Amino acid sequence: MTSAHVPDHAEIPPPKLEEVSPGIFGYIQMDGSWGLNNTGFIVGADGVVVIDTCFTERRSRWFYEAVRKTAAERAIRTLVNTHHHGDHTHGNYVFLPAATIIGHEKCREEVIAAGLGTKGMFPGVDWGEIVVAPPVVTFEDRLNLYIDSLRVELIFVGPAHTTNDIVAWVPERRVLFSGDIVFNQGTPFALMGSVAGWLEALERLKGLGIETIVPGHGPVCGPEVLDEVGDYLRFVQHAAKKGFDAGRTPLDTALETDLGRFADLLDKERLVGNLHRAFSELRGEPKGAPLSLGAIVAEMVQYNGGQMPRCLA
Ligand SMILES: [Zn+2]
Repeated sequence: MTSAHVPDHAEIPPPKLEEVSPGIFGYIQMDGSWGLNNTGFIVGADGVVVIDTCFTERRSRWFYEAVRKTAAERAIRTLVNTHHHGDHTHGNYVFLPAATIIGHEKCREEVIAAGLGTKGMFPGVDWGEIVVAPPVVTFEDRLNLYIDSLRVELIFVGPAHTTNDIVAWVPERRVLFSGDIVFNQGTPFALMGSVAGWLEALERLKGLGIETIVPGHGPVCGPEVLDEVGDYLRFVQHAAKKGFDAGRTPLDTALETDLGRFADLLDKERLVGNLHRAFSELRGEPKGAPLSLGAIVAEMVQYNGGQMPRCLA
């Protein structure tokens, strides 16, 4: 790693590699706000499985270098996408042609449909030359991967954060790569998924016997963070019900809602998107039903007093 690996933004530290269990690594990009996601990889005797990539070309290349440095000459055989969002998939192409990209069937559809559309939401980010590369092996419910004799269970838990969330669970080590089912120290974001479905996903995960979570954003944590995410989502449901019954809009409801202890979480403007999703569910619409993202993001900017979401990627 050279000085090129130092982020432009002095306020955030460089990405950090954490070995959470022998051969199992989390790659942690603090502060975990918009576009600063976590990835990871598992190194066996014979090959490497990578979980997610990064938002920009250079962050994805730093990550690739970190994998290379740790795994030496071992082949990077597979790359798992936990969901379609650009901060987890933009760097997929950096791992081609060697790696086979795996994801949920809807993740493939959404990566293709989104293209590079996310760039519009974050002007000022140095993207590099991103080439869209969707999963080429897809599944609907679950798929097992093996690294030597270590089993990695890919389990569909959506719709939750999006329509296509999967987690990577390593039962023998009690390690979970949760994707964005867990935001640690950041505001969960359910606009593109389902608030109710996310709460169900958390219950399912609690039954696994997890010891360590590499979350989609924020520091490595234990299973207690599942309850914190759940508390926030129930808070959103409660605020939504109050606003919905009073005939308020999601934006007005957000502006009138006191975030209380959740005010410390990063990217508070996500409340507006979360309320839109909760209102949709109160209208009886199906989980993950499409909503007008552009208009809702504009309202998130309005909630922020005209500021675009802050992205340090
Ligand atoms: Zn996401």
